[in-house]
Amino acid sequence: MSFSELGLIPEILRAVTEAGYTEPTPIQRQAIPVVLAGHDVMGGAQTGTGKTAGFTLPLLNRLARHASSSTSPARHPVRALILAPTRELAMQVYESVKMYSKHLPLRSTCIYGGVDMNPQIQELRRGIEIVVATPGRLLDHVQQKTIALGQVEFLILDEADRMLDMGFIPDIRRILALLPANRQSLLFSATFSDEIKKLADQMLKNPQLIEVARRNMVSETITHIVHPVSSGLKRNLLAHIVRHEDEANQVLVFVDTKFACSRLAHFLERHGISADAIHGDKTQQARTETLENFKSGKVRVLVATDVAARGLDIEDLPSVINFELPHTAEDYVHRIGRTGRAGKSGKAVSLVSSEERHRLADIQKLIKLEIRQEIVPGYDPEPDFFDADGSRRRRTAAPSRPADAAPAAAAAPGGERRKRSDRPERSERPSRSRQPSHIAADGFDFSKPYQQKDKLSVTGSEGESEGNAIPQKSQRPIAFLLGGLGRKH
Ligand code: AMP
Repeated sequence: MSFSELGLIPEILRAVTEAGYTEPTPIQRQAIPVVLAGHDVMGGAQTGTGKTAGFTLPLLNRLARHASSSTSPARHPVRALILAPTRELAMQVYESVKMYSKHLPLRSTCIYGGVDMNPQIQELRRGIEIVVATPGRLLDHVQQKTIALGQVEFLILDEADRMLDMGFIPDIRRILALLPANRQSLLFSATFSDEIKKLADQMLKNPQLIEVARRNMVSETITHIVHPVSSGLKRNLLAHIVRHEDEANQVLVFVDTKFACSRLAHFLERHGISADAIHGDKTQQARTETLENFKSGKVRVLVATDVAARGLDIEDLPSVINFELPHTAEDYVHRIGRTGRAGKSGKAVSLVSSEERHRLADIQKLIKLEIRQEIVPGYDPEPDFFDADGSRRRRTAAPSRPADAAPAAAAAPGGERRKRSDRPERSERPSRSRQPSHIAADGFDFSKPYQQKDKLSVTGSEGESEGNAIPQKSQRPIAFLLGGLGRKH
């Protein structure tokens, strides 16, 4: 299927061609006709699926009738509001809006906190049709009466689950109360908790449900490895691993907290490894600079928190290291999605201390894969790492060690790999036949090519499997619709 079959106007098709896109992604095939038809949408899709164009292209198409080259601000009221949880994500969406609207006389801007409000006020005064904003700063403008939302026709809430994590839902509710009831609304989220469903219930009218299959989150091109290590030795192990990586390889390291983020970057710098940190407490300018330095290769290691890194369009990286495992298993999928893209090989390395074992269990359950564990000699885990429930996990014998971990292990301080007899005793575990590592516990074969469940998952039209049909508006009550996405991804 091509973009020209989706009913988009020539100005938008031209911009799409210039962006180098030849065919729409599954979410674009599904969302574009639904949004063009004026329906509200509840979208289950993650960053990386092409969802930004999925909502921006039809939005621009619908706004095109208002396009005006008049200089009068009155001819350019705010008609579309796109809310994103972080400044980086808002900027990214804004860049997309600018790119796809370049052949239309529609004005857009991006407003976010942490920077001077005045330039934003000047911009808003000129008259702007499309505003991409983070919730807090938008409310600041509302309070100062520097933005009028009375003519908003389109509302898009991106990454609603992240908004929830960041405590923005009350702000979103305040914003909803300021918008005209007669509008088209789209809500995108990777997961659908009860709270998100409640919000959707309040925000959407008879929404069409669109869901795209998750990305191939455990692509066979990614090697997952866990290094059990005591928390006190993690920093040294990280430096050790980075030093034994190919010099040219950049590494993205994830940590839990802003505090740990900066400290770890400083630690690496002190040990001769060029590193920087990106987290929510940095000024916007500093975050942008850091990201640019990493993208251009000036900085070799970027230490990031999930919030700062979420949704960032970072090119494919050879390896991602979880200095700490994320609290939610879905974040593991987001994190490792930075590597092993487009068939390239990638490494997802996790440094796991004893107290993180339950997070590891959750991750393995979600990705349906038992991750290989390997102790790097000289960097032992806490003595209780393999106790009790830890004993369920397979200890890796040397022969099954992945080839890519060899350099680090071989050159580790302390010389030779530990012999089995040196390791803590393995407590009894039920004997079971070992499956090849690409076969998950439930029999799913990860070595087979990924097949997008490219279904048109609009509740009420389940029989349709082709994305080019315009789905029928569902007559079912919203609560039922939302139940359809109730499971966690
Ligand atoms: P998103 O999920 O919106 O963050 O998009 C992820 C990346 O996919 C961005 O770098 C987009 O430029 C790119 N992209 C979006 N749509 C397409 C398409 N139809 N073909 C190729 N790349 C695309």
